[in-house]
Amino acid sequence: MVSSDELDKIVRAGKIISSTLKYASSVVKPGVPVIDVCEELERYIISLGGELAFPCNVSINDIAAHYTSPLNDTSIIPENSIVKIDVGAHVDGYIADAAITLCFDSEFIDLMEASKAALERAIYAIKPGVYIRQVSRIIENTIKSYGFKPIRNLSGHLMKRYLLHGGKSIPNVSSSYDEVFLEGEVYAIEPFATNGAGYVEDTSEVYIYSFSKMKGFKSSFEKKVLKKIRSKFRGLPFSERWLVNLIPPPKIKVVLEKMVSKGALHSYPVLRDANGGMVSQAEHTIIVLRDGAMIVTSE
Ligand code: MN
Ligand code: MN
Repeated sequence: MVSSDELDKIVRAGKIISSTLKYASSVVKPGVPVIDVCEELERYIISLGGELAFPCNVSINDIAAHYTSPLNDTSIIPENSIVKIDVGAHVDGYIADAAITLCFDSEFIDLMEASKAALERAIYAIKPGVYIRQVSRIIENTIKSYGFKPIRNLSGHLMKRYLLHGGKSIPNVSSSYDEVFLEGEVYAIEPFATNGAGYVEDTSEVYIYSFSKMKGFKSSFEKKVLKKIRSKFRGLPFSERWLVNLIPPPKIKVVLEKMVSKGALHSYPVLRDANGGMVSQAEHTIIVLRDGAMIVTSE
């Protein structure tokens, strides 16, 4: 169950994210440096009174998720691309997570519409007591009706305070999953559609991390940094760009890799469709209310 104070905070985070995505459609254009997009949208979230729930994800073409600019990123938004912008804000730990797809080639409009329609139909079906697998089936069928594949190893997720993945998932394909939606729960629903393999694979690139546990470092610089990471981000994902005041920039990557190898940090590799297919995504955060889902990340 959500209290009115919690509801107020989630709604505030949701409004910040819907404004940010609206702003994104004027910022993101072919030729614009990806790092400018990330920094501008993250600044925008903060200017509206939100805190960052995770780094701004800019996932281009066959990249489905988890790309955010590293320090000194030189990549730019390509011509004729399909670009997913996925942003998250929180107010006192109450998270809103949403994404849109922008197309810079009319060839990708149907692909974009497929995930958008799947999201709309999924949300329409959510009510307390509804099986999660029913919503998964709606997502799968909608995307297939457009002639595309849902990405089967990416899913929506329950969210809790300071917790992006709160235990229950909403797969984008039908399953035998027994869980139901419960009144008061907060979910991010996020269908992904592709003209490729229909599943993503890890690439060797990693730009997003989160705190896992205090281990691997005895009284050292790394231990101090790890403690700061724990208190600053409260377990939420962060970018190496956010650590420039904590670690000398040339050392950041090395320090983070060491922390990952010792199990102190969790890493989120960039995810790509296994056949290099183009990918679209649509995402909203919703609250399950007695009569149905309330979308918190739409205007
Ligand atoms: Mn997201
Ligand atoms: Mn999400």
